[in-house]
Order: sequence, then structure tokens, then C-alpha cells
Amino acid sequence: KFITLEGGEGSGKSTAIACLEQWMKAQGIPYLLTREPGGTPLAEEIRQVVLSKRDETVNSITELLLVFAARAQHVAQKIAPALESGVWVISDRFIDSSYVYQGVARGLDIEDIDSLVRLAVGASLPDKTILLDVPVSVGMARVSARTGNDRLDGESTQFHEMVRAGFLDLAKRDSHRISIVDASVPQENVFEQIVTILEQVKQA
Ligand code: C5P
Repeated sequence: KFITLEGGEGSGKSTAIACLEQWMKAQGIPYLLTREPGGTPLAEEIRQVVLSKRDETVNSITELLLVFAARAQHVAQKIAPALESGVWVISDRFIDSSYVYQGVARGLDIEDIDSLVRLAVGASLPDKTILLDVPVSVGMARVSARTGNDRLDGESTQFHEMVRAGFLDLAKRDSHRISIVDASVPQENVFEQIVTILEQVKQA
């Protein structure tokens, strides 16, 4: 099984992943935990390039192609072989982040992204995507409590609103694959929602 986690800034992905790992271990399921952009040495180098703030404004298409260059390597070298050998794969972000960050937020063509998904991901598509949803104000408050910054990664509130709406729209259009978790509630409650989803995946 292939499970991906998605969500905006301050949605609690890291904590959710700790919960997922705990469940996997308790179930005795062999799994591989990975993340995007990244997941292999080459892809992690591309991640540094994509995420580092630089003087030069990064062109949206450049960003799109970099993210997919990393993804092609990640799928070929790590995800597809693991799935083939029956290991569960958990990825912190995957294709939906591209639909939302590069597509919705940066305004790139969704059909172009579909083509790149076919090219770089092929059949290694997620069986289940857990979307951690929080209002932008809640995510922002969490990030500022953690980092002392009152802005999220230099992007505007409007950008983060677009990201949130983009994820929710994807979830509406692909409700079978994408399950929305209300991540604004206390942690134990978030964990319960995630475990319910994992149990469904296990039985499917
Ligand atoms: O929260 P996380 O560490 O996963 O954040 C990585 C960052 O990379 C996101 O905040 C997002 O701005 C960016 N990203 C992106 N396009 C992707 C994946 C991540 O712009 N496809």
C-alpha cells in the first residue's frame, strides 16, 4: 500500500507521521517512510535547490520541472521497488502538493501536471492520501509558536488560503482516494481519525 500525507503549513504533518509510524509498528507492517521533494540523495539535492531562498526569482515552470525531476528519481529508485516488494510506503507529500503548490498556487496548467505525473510516477499512485486540514489562521499560529516568525515561509496569507482551498478541492474531486482529517482538533482526536483511515486501508 502507498499512503501519502498532505497539508499546508502548520497542519501537523510531522506529528501525524509519528502517529502513522506508531500504528505501523504496532501492526507489524513493514514500511518505508519518505518525503518529497526528496527521498533519495539526488532528489534531496533538488529539494535544497527548490526550497532555498535565492536572489533569483524561481520561474514557476523551473520549479515544476525540478519537483518532478526529483519525483521521477524518487519513484524509480525508492517507491516503486518498495511497493513491488510488498512494503508499505508512507510519503510526506507527493503529487497532490504539485497540483496545489505548482498548479493552483503558482497558476500552472493542471493538464501539464497530469502529463508529468504519467511520465514520472506511472502506476505508482497512492492508494490513500490523508489530507490534514486546518484553517490558515490556525496553521499560522502554530508555525509562529514554533519558529517565532509571524509569517509562514515568506508567502502571503492569500497564498496559504489558495493552498488550503486547492487541497480541499482535490479531496472533493477524488473523495475515494483522499480522506480529509480535521487537524484543528486536539492531537489525540487527530490520531483517532488517522487510525480509522489506516484500518480501512489495511482491510481494502
Ligand atoms: O512542510 P514541508 O516540509 O513538507 O514543506 C515543504 C515546502 O515545500 C512546502 O511548504 C511548500 O512550500 C514547498 N513545496 C512546493 N511544491 C511541492 C512540495 C513542496 O512548493 N510540490
